[in-house]
Amino acid sequence: MTTPLTGSCLCGAIRYTIDTPITELRICHCTHCQKASGAGGSVNAVVPSASFHITQGTPKRFDARADSGRTLYRFFCGDCGSPIYSQRATTPDILVVRAGTFDGGGDMKITTHIWTRSARPWDTIDPASKQFPGQPDAPPARK
Ligand SMILES: [Zn+2]
Ligand SMILES: [Zn+2]
Repeated sequence: MTTPLTGSCLCGAIRYTIDTPITELRICHCTHCQKASGAGGSVNAVVPSASFHITQGTPKRFDARADSGRTLYRFFCGDCGSPIYSQRATTPDILVVRAGTFDGGGDMKITTHIWTRSARPWDTIDPASKQFPGQPDAPPARK
């Protein structure tokens, strides 16, 4: 895959680059991602924040309080509404970017499904993928 990867919202007001290789994608079936996407969930790449660069525009931020009590910042285009990325208030060094906003797909694969316990009955989950009923074990905290 070529880096940097580029992406944008639907209207093009927000553009970004990611300068780390992405091969694995993760689907989140949580109820917040369902509401935010209007679909079965969100398809994401987890990347270091330092590799993600907004090159045009300023996303709007919605602060969503998760059932866990943690706050998740959801960044989206204020003009067209495309969700772009999200970030936990407690883990600023990691970003979760919506893979459907990438300009190209490269050879990425969906390897993991999380929050499967709230997956919509009409959604499909590849039985060969890694699955977590809720949030998978958080990466080691680097505070
Ligand atoms: Zn837009
Ligand atoms: Zn989610």
